[in-house]
Amino acid sequence: MNEIEVKNVSFTYPGDETNPPVRALDGVTLEIEKGSFTVILGHNGSGKSTLARIICMIDSPEYGSVVIDGRDMTAEDVTDKDVLDARRKVGMVFQNPDNQIVATIVEEDVAFGCENLGVPSDEIRRRVDEALETVGMTKYARHAPHKLSGGQKQRVAIAGVIAMRRECIIFDESTAMLDPMGRREVLETIDRLNEDGITVVLITHYMEEATRADKVYVLNEGRVLTSGTPSEVFSDPETLWKASLDVPQTTELLYKLKQRGLDVPLDVFDPEKCAKVIRDALKKKKAENGG
Ligand code: ADP
Ligand code: MG
Repeated sequence: MNEIEVKNVSFTYPGDETNPPVRALDGVTLEIEKGSFTVILGHNGSGKSTLARIICMIDSPEYGSVVIDGRDMTAEDVTDKDVLDARRKVGMVFQNPDNQIVATIVEEDVAFGCENLGVPSDEIRRRVDEALETVGMTKYARHAPHKLSGGQKQRVAIAGVIAMRRECIIFDESTAMLDPMGRREVLETIDRLNEDGITVVLITHYMEEATRADKVYVLNEGRVLTSGTPSEVFSDPETLWKASLDVPQTTELLYKLKQRGLDVPLDVFDPEKCAKVIRDALKKKKAENGG
């Protein structure tokens, strides 16, 4: 079942005296299945954050519709309660961890969103403990957030969203400002949430992060350039290169070898497996050429 359907959505930022209007999305259609892991790729300005805000219903589409759990949120008979219910299903984690911290103690920060929702305090206590456990930050519960590393701060931000019991979480380049270790910590956390049944939408420009997805959408100039499984999308590196996007390093290497006549697949993303595929192909070629 689809948790979220975006149908032919367009969105324009109105201009002002100095700036012309910007058409940020132009007929975008996508489907996000419940419990799935979706990655949205695209270079700067391709419309990713605008799309995220529309899925979260922070902004409304100019044209097209957004369907959450089967309910068309752009239908005429949608009530405020419908919108509120739908908003409560989808949470968002942003790029800059510092902008998301609101309290001076980690556990208070994690509790903040629940307090705004009016969750009873003993229930908040339970949810905060559980959320900190999920992101591996239990022992920092009484720490000051500003002293944590970037990756730890993002995990605190994620805990806040989990505590609000979101069914779907959109990560808008949430790993972009982190060092490699912070990125790994946050990605492991995201993977775990998805294993626990949370629908994940990961917006990124790191191609390697996209290989874990069930489905990848590539945005370019406000349109879906291509979509499919990581194997499908990365098997056509030319399309991505034309849109000034990279492909995973393994894909690029395999593609170049294939062009030189080596019989290798393109969709091997693990470096060890990639090395093995190349070794095997070289052996085979050597045998064919008479050893
Ligand atoms: P991405 O997240 O992929 O970098 P955005 O959705 O932020 O892309 O932006 C898409 C386009 O909309 C860009 O051309 C950007 O300059 C423009 N844009 C984004 N936010 C605004 C805004 N608040 N006002 C005007 N234009 C905007
Ligand atoms: Mg963005």
